Amino acid sequence: MFVCKNCGEKFDTQVNFCNQCGSSAIEPEEIPVYTAEPVYTYSAPVAPASSSPAGKILGIISMVCGIVGIFFTGISFFMSFGGFTDDDIASMAMFYALFFVAFGIAGMILGSMSKNKGFMGSMATVGKTLGMVSIIVAGVAFFFSFIGLCINA
Ligand SMILES: [Zn+2]
Repeated sequence: MFVCKNCGEKFDTQVNFCNQCGSSAIEPEEIPVYTAEPVYTYSAPVAPASSSPAGKILGIISMVCGIVGIFFTGISFFMSFGGFTDDDIASMAMFYALFFVAFGIAGMILGSMSKNKGFMGSMATVGKTLGMVSIIVAGVAFFFSFIGLCINA
């Protein structure tokens, strides 16, 4: 293939003048050898900015929040069953679920932020996952506690 340097028109055979613009700057088309592959090999090593200190700190906080969230919402989940027979336990379980779901939400948000900052460590994933699970657990615990309060009322 030959290409007109002036307008970009392509020709199968070498011609003296471009039939589009009349330019004589017809040259063999350069085969774009390194368009696709080097882009890939370049972007990969650049992406893991796992040394990003902010991302790492966010990841650690995310994990701590996720663990606190899942631990205490877990407790509220089991307490909510006791809430079916005891009003006080039901209200306590409800309070636990409401209060500690905040840690779960924080864990989830901070985990995402950490990942956005390019932190590749598993701490952000753990925090995000535990955060999400604790939100679900808290929701169920809150629901059960509410039923408990209704039954006992
Ligand atoms: Zn041309």
